[in-house]
Amino acid sequence: MARYIGSACKQCRTEREKLFLKGERCNSSKCALERKRGKNAPGQHGAKKGKMSDYAKHLREKQKARRVFGLTEQQFKRYFIVAEKMPGLTSDTLLKLLEMRLDNVVYKLGLSYSRKNARQMVMHGLICVNGKKIDVPRYQVKKDDVITVKASYKDNVNLKKLMENLVAVPSWLTFNKEAVEGKVVNEPLKEDFSHPINGQLIVEFYSK
Ligand code: SF4
Repeated sequence: MARYIGSACKQCRTEREKLFLKGERCNSSKCALERKRGKNAPGQHGAKKGKMSDYAKHLREKQKARRVFGLTEQQFKRYFIVAEKMPGLTSDTLLKLLEMRLDNVVYKLGLSYSRKNARQMVMHGLICVNGKKIDVPRYQVKKDDVITVKASYKDNVNLKKLMENLVAVPSWLTFNKEAVEGKVVNEPLKEDFSHPINGQLIVEFYSK
């Protein structure tokens, strides 16, 4: 399945909630969901609000998670298959695997505007893990990994702007602003997960 190249805001409108796919714009009044029409799902029947079937609830939760992390159906299903084989609750393991993707960590450290932007940075070879360039967005970070940007990118105007507006990073990460260096100090817990996603609904969706 090809990667989605349509409007990011349309995906939020479909899920009827902010998925924060566009960086700065998502926190401004320009966000489509801040406008009256944008609150409806796209399409001719978007304004209709009927009761959701159980199947629809499960599907929407899966689609929401898939969209938050910018994955294709195939990629997302692969995470589920891996999570199912790992010890522990599949729902928590699935979300942990997604959370520990390198592109998500770059975004969470405040080094990019969005996950899409983080993915591009990784693919362009701007991110190093433990001093070694990693250009694979799906790379799974581990506890004690140190994430840095390429030396020549430290003077980038966009990065400097991001550093000026940097707010707190999640508790499972630390960040040294001066050195532009992040560290994975723990594995993320359920409460650290990026977005309110009900992993159990996703497990039930794939288990039907
Ligand atoms: Fe979603 Fe609003 Fe961001 Fe568009 S601007 S991607 S609708 S959160």
